[in-house]
Amino acid sequence: MSQAIDQRLKTFAVSLLERNGGLVEWPAYLKSGFAVLPSHTAQLLECPENTEITGESVHSGLTINLASMFLQRIERLFPTDASAISLKIDTLYLKKSAMDEPVARAFGFPNARVKVIGASADRVEYQFWHFAAAIESDEKWEDVINFARNSRTGAMLELPDPLSNYDAHPSRPDATTPEMTRVMAQAAAVAARRSQAFVQRLEERMDRDLKRLKSYYHALVDDAADHKIRGAADLEKLDARTRAVELELERKIDELRDRYTLRPELRPIALVRLDAPALRVELNVQRRNAEKRIGIYWNAITKALEPLACSKCAADSFTVHFDDQIQTLCAQCAQA
Ligand SMILES: [Zn+2]
Repeated sequence: MSQAIDQRLKTFAVSLLERNGGLVEWPAYLKSGFAVLPSHTAQLLECPENTEITGESVHSGLTINLASMFLQRIERLFPTDASAISLKIDTLYLKKSAMDEPVARAFGFPNARVKVIGASADRVEYQFWHFAAAIESDEKWEDVINFARNSRTGAMLELPDPLSNYDAHPSRPDATTPEMTRVMAQAAAVAARRSQAFVQRLEERMDRDLKRLKSYYHALVDDAADHKIRGAADLEKLDARTRAVELELERKIDELRDRYTLRPELRPIALVRLDAPALRVELNVQRRNAEKRIGIYWNAITKALEPLACSKCAADSFTVHFDDQIQTLCAQCAQA
């Protein structure tokens, strides 16, 4: 999974750099490549105009993985790259009654003591992302990934399309750049889920082709071995033939793996930013010796409490664990 995300990030990074005037040479089978960037792009990314580009964290060039600075820096390139629309909903009804019971009903906090402090009217930017996702391989898979998220908590939400919401009117374009690290990870996770059947079908086909190939070449070796061996010369001939067949088989297997290599691409195509009223519910979280205030949101459009996002993997959940720094964790990351 993380390898697939790294691959997607690489493809995303290369196409982003290219669309920002860069020349990138990074063959799929190499761990690093080379980029020549226009000076303003290099300045924004805080790297030389001629730079090595790599997925390895230890490297000194432009490093592209989830842990690197690259994703934070490309936010500076991003707004020019996808079209963004800004909308605003001025007023919506906000729940007035006490939130203790709704929070207790919606959420589970298995490893912390959580108390509702209070609730207050707030405004939240909800982001509606549209990504073009594709995987090139022996066949091509393409899809458009849409998802909505609360920009404060990072939680992914099921929300109605804001473009058909009559309360939402166009507003001044937001100059702030969206936080891309989490967004990319979330888009990659959605794309991975959606393409699962396609990837599985390809893997099955590759396995089948591999089996056929191996049995064909093994039959060739067996055939050769069937000939009567009359002396050392024959034996040598047989060895040579077996070696030739094995080399040919290796070459064919490499070709096959090449043909079935997944080349994923994830490209942001549009962002709708909706500034809407929301009710912020303040929680006090206590775990071991640590204590912290965190906010959750009651969504004024769906009239329901929103889940929280895991600080590690960005998955959202109503069963929220906390680490010793009171960072949110999903059940899976809490176990790891
Ligand atoms: Zn998680």
